[in-house]
Amino acid sequence: MSEAVVADSQGELPHWLAAQRNQLLASPAHALLLHGASGLGQYELALSIAQSWLCEAADLPERLATGEGACGQCASCQQIRARSHTDLLVLMPETVMLALGWPLSEKAQSDIDGKKRKPSKDIRIDDVREAVAFAELTSGRGRGKAILVYPAEQLNLASANALLKTLEEPQGACASCSPLKLRISSCPQFVAVAKPLL
Ligand SMILES: [Zn+2]
Repeated sequence: MSEAVVADSQGELPHWLAAQRNQLLASPAHALLLHGASGLGQYELALSIAQSWLCEAADLPERLATGEGACGQCASCQQIRARSHTDLLVLMPETVMLALGWPLSEKAQSDIDGKKRKPSKDIRIDDVREAVAFAELTSGRGRGKAILVYPAEQLNLASANALLKTLEEPQGACASCSPLKLRISSCPQFVAVAKPLL
């Protein structure tokens, strides 16, 4: 899906996706499951939402109200662009991470470089455990934390359960998508992206 919609270097979204992002950001949910056919820009939308959650611009509320989104300039936005934000964790198959320019963990990169194994095509349980541990840490920059799961259907049952165990019962907002059910936590914030189940 990432081939069809490409955010520009500032992370700006096409107008129609920016409108969706602002609508989603206005909702009180702490987790979002973006669901749709490939090629509609769900990954870019999810990343833009995470960037907006973490953006440190003083005028962020005004920016969102006018459809401008995250500022693209602050330290947080710059770290997201550099794929090095301490409060954003992406949970993806390694093949997808590599394709989208996200760095693998040192251990994973070293195993792959050393030809001990190939990049995983699934979301690995080890990475899910890492996400669980990440969720329990305090926010490094003080704006909360975000986990982007993409594509969510690549979570197998064991991985989904490991992730869900860390989440609190929702306070009222809940997004669910059978058979993958995501409970919403008050912290951290999740963006999960899934293709529709056919
Ligand atoms: Zn910013």
